[in-house]
Amino acid sequence: MTPMPSTPFNPAALDHALGPLAAAFSVRWEACVASTNAALIDHLPADDGRVVVLGATEQTAGRGRRGRRWLAWAGGSLTFSVLWRFAPAAPAPAGLSLATGLALARALEKLGVGGIALKWPNDVLVQGRKIAGVLIELSTERDRRLAAVIGIGLNLRLPPDAGIPDQAGGVTDLASELGTTPTQEHVLAAVLAELHPLLTRYASAGFPPLRQAWQQLNAFAGLPVRVTSEGEEIVGRCVGVDDDGALLLDREHGVTRVLAGDVSLRQV
Ligand code: ATP
Repeated sequence: MTPMPSTPFNPAALDHALGPLAAAFSVRWEACVASTNAALIDHLPADDGRVVVLGATEQTAGRGRRGRRWLAWAGGSLTFSVLWRFAPAAPAPAGLSLATGLALARALEKLGVGGIALKWPNDVLVQGRKIAGVLIELSTERDRRLAAVIGIGLNLRLPPDAGIPDQAGGVTDLASELGTTPTQEHVLAAVLAELHPLLTRYASAGFPPLRQAWQQLNAFAGLPVRVTSEGEEIVGRCVGVDDDGALLLDREHGVTRVLAGDVSLRQV
């Protein structure tokens, strides 16, 4: 595999790019971890009121849904996880993956990327090619509050021999979309700056206020789609998402709701 030049993470550059919002985050960066989601969920840090972010220059066993893998290259990928703690009686986390996708889409737009669409429940596409993915894992804390670990992988500059499997629509990266590669700190700041207000909104009001914005970016709006889950297959026309983030499929006998089932619940 092609080795890529990578520069060490620069916390001061991130703080500078975040401006006043820097105080809202506690960021830790590792040179190499297997999975930022696993590292965070296995050792949930104490709550000091800030949003915890764990990133890695190199992630060697990035996780996708249901045992699939997220491939990343040091210097070519931005991989990090954000810990979001829900207050007791907060909205169900089902739409969180969609809210995160929306934040990624907005951040990419601000960076100058055009043609962004969201593929339910957790992918960000540019002209149909996958540029970023989201994996949310849940854990219950000792005080019984729910903690969501939001894993994000975003392609900055893929190596020419990346060989990413099972993406019929193709994959892309920021370098191809922008003609230049912004620094990892700049991209991370752009994502966190969108994620923070959206998650705050989500925490107080759930997915309903974000639903319309998500639907405007729905990659398959009005199109026939096939949803497969545990050997079962449902075909219908994608008519959007419900108030809780469930996919809505128009079928012969009415509208069917499809839930993602992309979360794994663990007891600490
Ligand atoms: P589905 O289409 O069934 O929802 P998915 O593509 O959303 O699947 P995920 O589990 O979300 O699946 O992500 C893992 C998949 O993403 C991998 O199986 C691979 O096809 C693709 N992938 C892995 N690394 C990258 C990457 N760096 N860039 C783009 N796509 C990737």
